[in-house]
Amino acid sequence: MSYELCKKVRDLTPYDPLQGNYDLRLDANESYLPLSADLKAQAAKIAAEAALNRYPDPYAEELCTAFGDYYGVDSNLVTAGNGSDEIIGLIVGALLQKGEKIANLSPDFSMYRFYGEIYENPVIQIPKGEDFRIDPQAVIREVKRQDVKMLIFSNPCNPTSVGLEAEEVRKIVRGVDALVVLDEAYMDFWNQSLLLEVSDYDNLIILKTCSKAIGMAALRVGFAVANENITKALKAVKSPYNVNSISQAIAACVLRDKAFLQRCEEEIIASAKNLKEGMDGLAAKYPVLEKVFESCTNFVYIKTAAAKEIYQKLLKKSIAVRCFGGYLRISTDSIDNNRRLFTALNEILSEPTAQ
Ligand SMILES: *Cc1c(COP(=O)(O)O)cnc(C)c1O
Repeated sequence: MSYELCKKVRDLTPYDPLQGNYDLRLDANESYLPLSADLKAQAAKIAAEAALNRYPDPYAEELCTAFGDYYGVDSNLVTAGNGSDEIIGLIVGALLQKGEKIANLSPDFSMYRFYGEIYENPVIQIPKGEDFRIDPQAVIREVKRQDVKMLIFSNPCNPTSVGLEAEEVRKIVRGVDALVVLDEAYMDFWNQSLLLEVSDYDNLIILKTCSKAIGMAALRVGFAVANENITKALKAVKSPYNVNSISQAIAACVLRDKAFLQRCEEEIIASAKNLKEGMDGLAAKYPVLEKVFESCTNFVYIKTAAAKEIYQKLLKKSIAVRCFGGYLRISTDSIDNNRRLFTALNEILSEPTAQ
């Protein structure tokens, strides 16, 4: 017997998020809010009564209808996935021919590049400008010059928390002869969505997720919204039973509770503002925190040469955040827990070694 793994996967290591118990988990941009007692009871009933011997609805119709009603889009233009991660892989793997180029705006969400490489599509990095601003004309020029077939980016961006206004995004979508995959995972926290105009374009797919503002990361539910033509293709290429029955039913039930979701959204936006203000205060006091970026999301992004050191010291205090080279990304929690973070950072930054 002789078998060797192909080169592209031989040296890959699995995505390894932080595991273990920490008092504060501020590292994954999840919602910190639990379901209401009423929704918890409904979810328990759904789980207890599910027909586990039967395959799920392949098109997740009840779920897509609930999503469509919540966001005001036609549910016929919605495809459900096992998290938007699955849909990113599906789009890259099925809507591009092998070898066709993908463009990323760098820095951005790491999964875009990962799937491009797995499916053997060259991934071109178009660097963002100063303070991670996106220049639509520069993006359009590069996409044309390099004959890119698919441009994918998040807006607002993870990890930078910076947002691009809708009119600027429209310029990009109209200006390129390529598929644009616009990941609006965090758009519930900002107001510059293109969701309601998706059918005006022949080259736009918008990704949404239940993992952030909707507060159900555990269920693994995401969506692609696109015109009829693209939606038909996505439904044809997805695996038939990609979203499990329990996730479909519970997510539909939560999406129908608009008042609950509205309250959660308002509370998270208020606590994210509190987080930003608290970090601005710390940055004014400790110059090692060089810059706190303007946030359009439920997290903040901070430039600091001491990122790694601060990250490790926070872990010792049972607070988990994300560290990217010379940057920290910190998700918001409740105002009380944000205060705990500020206290911990004050302790860390006032030690003489951190300066
Ligand atoms: C968290 C996140 C997602 C969501 O992924 P799921 O697979 O739906 O949990 C998608 N895109 C970005 C940019 C994210 O940060």
